[in-house]
Amino acid sequence: MKRLPEEEKPFPIDLQPESRFWEKRGVSRRDFIKFCTAMTAALSLPAAMIPRVAEALGSDDRPSVIWLEFQSCTGDTEALLRSSAPTVAEIILDVLSIDYAETIMAAAGVLAEETRAKTVKERGGKYIVVVEGSIPTRDNGAHCCIGGRSALDIARELCGNALATIAVGTCASYGGLPAAAPNPSGAVGVGEAVPGITLINLPGCPVNTDNLVATIVHFLTFGRLPETDGKGRPLFAYGKKIHDNCERRPHFDAGQYVEAWGDQGHRKGHCLYKMGCKGPATFHNCPVQKYNEKTAWPVGSGHGCVGCSEPSFWDSMSPFYRRLPAVPGFGIEATADKIGLGLVATAAAGFGIHGALNALRKDKEPEDSTREG
Ligand code: SF4
Repeated sequence: MKRLPEEEKPFPIDLQPESRFWEKRGVSRRDFIKFCTAMTAALSLPAAMIPRVAEALGSDDRPSVIWLEFQSCTGDTEALLRSSAPTVAEIILDVLSIDYAETIMAAAGVLAEETRAKTVKERGGKYIVVVEGSIPTRDNGAHCCIGGRSALDIARELCGNALATIAVGTCASYGGLPAAAPNPSGAVGVGEAVPGITLINLPGCPVNTDNLVATIVHFLTFGRLPETDGKGRPLFAYGKKIHDNCERRPHFDAGQYVEAWGDQGHRKGHCLYKMGCKGPATFHNCPVQKYNEKTAWPVGSGHGCVGCSEPSFWDSMSPFYRRLPAVPGFGIEATADKIGLGLVATAAAGFGIHGALNALRKDKEPEDSTREG
């Protein structure tokens, strides 16, 4: 059978010429189809939903977005700007109207603040807020001020009136590094700073922009945020443990572990559990979505997971190179809500029976001076 070139294949939606989004935005038809297909898959939606996603992205009714940056390293903005074409730069930035983003907007100072105030006033609550960074609450929020107002004050006003708020990165979701003990600024995530708002958390250090884009696409397509777990994270991205999808998992099951950095097991891609990997305790789709144009992710590159998408990971997951303790546990199908216990304890549980047996099956464990508990 003769294969049609990609450009000539029928697209599974009857888009009118005026709604040919890819043409208006200078994106090729092939890239647009690829993007819609990837987003539908990322959201765990059936392929039949691709036309609906395409339709939503083709709309000219662009929601306004206000991107706030508080106590952060700007890693999430960097991740967004460096995501591969045609995802963000050529599609989402055109679908959305990003009216305020301090790091990337041309305006600065008073002009920037006026732009934000104008957006809030003119859009009358019809805007999405993206928050990057934690919000300090100590000393009346004085540790992070923009234009003479505290981050706390700005978040209360803007998130409190928004259609939805998306907390990107672990700092905005749960406080992150600024909230690590002793948390001198009283840093918290958006949900704690402004309770009761329509919020979704996309933790990670930094956020995986595929998950951010998929969340926005879901909102544009269905008019609501995706279903979440008890920590406010979308299930499509945080419904499974790193350990469940890890490419090193067969080695875990076979009791083949890296015992020292650079040893033969490390070179062969064996499991990093004994080197402190927190994958059994961490819910995120890193092994599937990956980073850097889907080419790599930390565990794939030879470093254990540090659990960066979990609340308080700087405190609860460290020391990062110490293995999780072994206690009785749960199965591969568990979600964060089903487990409902402290993460380190539950992760340890994951290894407890299954992993311990595998380790013993392989050979006797070496003396481990770093073992917890
Ligand atoms: Fe992968 Fe870490 Fe689980 Fe080993 S312990 S299989 S490296 S997630």
